[in-house]
Parts: sequence; C-alpha cells; structure tokens
Amino acid sequence: MDMVQTLADTEFAVSSTHSYESGVVPRRGETVMVAGEGCWMIDSEGRRYLDMTSSQGVAMLGYGHPVLTAALQEQAGRLHACPNFFHNDTRASFLEKLISVTPDHLTRAFLGNSGAEAIDGAIKFARLATGRTGIVAARNSFHGRTVGALALTWNPRYRRKFEPLLPDVSHVHFNNIEQLDEAVDEGTAAVVLEVIQAEGGVHEGAAGFLAAAQALCRERGALLVVDEVQTGFGRTGRWFSFQHYDLEPDIIALAKGLGGGFPMGATVYTEQIQDSLFSGAHGSTFGGNPLACAAGIAALSVYQDGLIEQAERAGKRLWEALEAAVGSRRVVREIRGKGLLIGIDLRTKAVPFLKTLMEEHSVLALPAGSTVLRLLPPLTISDEEIDLAVEAIAATLPDSV
Ligand SMILES: *Cc1c(COP(=O)(O)O)cnc(C)c1O
Repeated sequence: MDMVQTLADTEFAVSSTHSYESGVVPRRGETVMVAGEGCWMIDSEGRRYLDMTSSQGVAMLGYGHPVLTAALQEQAGRLHACPNFFHNDTRASFLEKLISVTPDHLTRAFLGNSGAEAIDGAIKFARLATGRTGIVAARNSFHGRTVGALALTWNPRYRRKFEPLLPDVSHVHFNNIEQLDEAVDEGTAAVVLEVIQAEGGVHEGAAGFLAAAQALCRERGALLVVDEVQTGFGRTGRWFSFQHYDLEPDIIALAKGLGGGFPMGATVYTEQIQDSLFSGAHGSTFGGNPLACAAGIAALSVYQDGLIEQAERAGKRLWEALEAAVGSRRVVREIRGKGLLIGIDLRTKAVPFLKTLMEEHSVLALPAGSTVLRLLPPLTISDEEIDLAVEAIAATLPDSV
C-alpha cells in the first residue's frame, strides 16, 4: 500500500507526456494509471477502478501477483536479455512448460512479442508447409494490425487506407459452411479463425461450422489456424477455446495472457510443419526474451494451479448474475460468451455506458463491435468483485432503450 500511496502522491506531467504520442489510440479522458493491486487499477489521484478488462485481456492474474512479480524480479537481477542464437535456461524451461499445456499434437513453438506477430508467423509457416499462398478468414474477425495480420482482420476501418494488403486472402461469413466450402480450394494454405470472435462482438463459432472448417482443411490439404490470442489460457474456462469444440488445429496463435501481462506471443504448431521450416525462415530479436519467459513460466504455473477451473466458475457466476440483474431489460439484446469473456449486446451504442461505468462507478469495461459491452476480468476475480461489477452495470444500463 505504501508504494501505491507514494505513486498516488507524485505529480504527473500529463500533457507533456501525451503531446509526444502518436494519438492513433483514442484515450479515455486524462486519467493517468500509476499502479495496480489484484483486480484494481489505481490512478494518479489515488482513485481505484475495478478492472473488468485485465488491460485488454492480458493481466489474467491481476496486478502485483506475487508469483509473477517474484519471477520477474529474480530474472531481472540475473539476465534480462539473451540473443536467440544462444541457448537459455529460462527460455528452455518456458518452452517445456508451454508445450506441456498445449494438446499433444502441438509440439513446437516460435516465440515473438505480440498477437499480430504470432499471426504473421502462422501465415508464413502455413505458406511454407503447404507451398500455397491463399488464406481464408472470417468476416468480423480481428487478428491484429501489422501489415500481415491486418490482411486477415475484417474491419474495413482498420484496413481500407492500407490496401493493397496481402493477396489471396478471402473472408467468408462466420458460421456459413457453404461459403467456406466454396472458398477453400487447392490454393488455400490456411483457414484462420477465432473460435469465439472477441473484438468483433463476442460471437461464438457454431460447432458445425468449426468442425466443417477442420474437415475441409484436411480434405483439401490446407491448415487450420486458430487464433487464441484473446481466448487462450483459461479466458473461456478451458486452457484454449478450441477445446470446447474438440478441434485439432495445426497452428495456434497465442499472446495476451501468455506472459500474464508481460508482452510475449507464440506461434505453436505440429511436428509436420516443423519439417518444412528452414534456418532463417523467421526471426524476432526480442522473441523468447528471458524476462518474458520468466513471466510466462510464472503465469502458466498459476494457471495450472487451479485458475482455469476458477475462471470457469467465476464466469458462470458473472453470467448468471448479469442475466438476473439486466438480462430482461429492453436495452439488452443478449448476454453471451464463455467463461470470463462476456459480451452484453445492447440495442444501442455501448461506448457512452463505458464512460458512465468508469466515471460514476469506477468500473472499467471494453467495447466489442459498436453495441457490445465486453467484460474480460482477471481470472483471479473474487465473488465480491463480480457482485460489485454487476451492481455497477445494473445501475448504468437504463430500464428502457
Ligand atoms: C489482441 C488480438 C490480436 C492482436 O494482438 P496484438 O498483441 O495487439 O498484436 C490478434 N488476435 C486476437 C484474437 C486478439 O484479440
């Protein structure tokens, strides 16, 4: 608490720091976040906010988790950087742990620093493994904003000004099997899907569509890539969201929760794909950084220690409490999601409610699409904190539209 108090007492030169930033990310007012504790963020005035976003889905253990903090401190004092051309003990331990928590058929991992980079790796590896260039993605998808990943991301607002992007990318309607059947052909390297579209509005894939995607890939020699960047590591109540559907993807893209909030990403894939890679096929200077790997080991060990099951229980409680509190209101079209990825689909724009939640109730939430209020709390959230969030949402959403 002392640290938090000291930080809160510090003067922050808000305008001078902000004036040098690119401004491409819209800001939420002038709030300066300076500390965190469990599921709470603390601003420069000492005000505490219940963070139902985990800092955009990354701080799955909340803030200041003792296991994560100790691991980072220990590694920082020993070796904080190491080139990829040397072996490194922490990286080796992390990889062993990562492969132990992914399904048995996924045996190799390329380490990078973000979700978009994990997707870029998946695109390159799929091209190498198949000798093809085509990618089929879904409308409403979000796969990141590097020039590679952006070609797969659907939102025209993000894409239009940067076209032409990668060639041979097509988008089918999510959950439309006929369109998928038409799109996947002998030129298709990969079908890339989120099994629950998070950013696009919290839409779950239909089991039949996802099974068809896998079957079509197998039949036509394409690879199935599942983007687990937002849904991985217990977010949906399982280690990975494709496990709700018994899928066997050839490649998965990981990031957000991988390092418990420390920046890292990974492209995890099969031994067969490994056979087609060559030295120099891909690389990333910071990928597999020892600090990131130490954070990753810590995060994975806490997930393994019952947190995935806890997320499933907490998600059920949150969903049921929301249904009871606001589910029957006119303004609410539907409450959907899995585990601790929940979307409240409204009959009106979501953004004004996010502002009220923050300013009047000190609760942080996210949008998804234009009408969905998205909740992505840390997996460590307590029952009391769930109740607080639901009370605030009930007080914020109107009784009528
Ligand atoms: C956040 C996200 C990405 C992009 O990750 P970055 O780390 O921002 O590059 C990709 N896919 C999904 C599903 C995401 O939620």
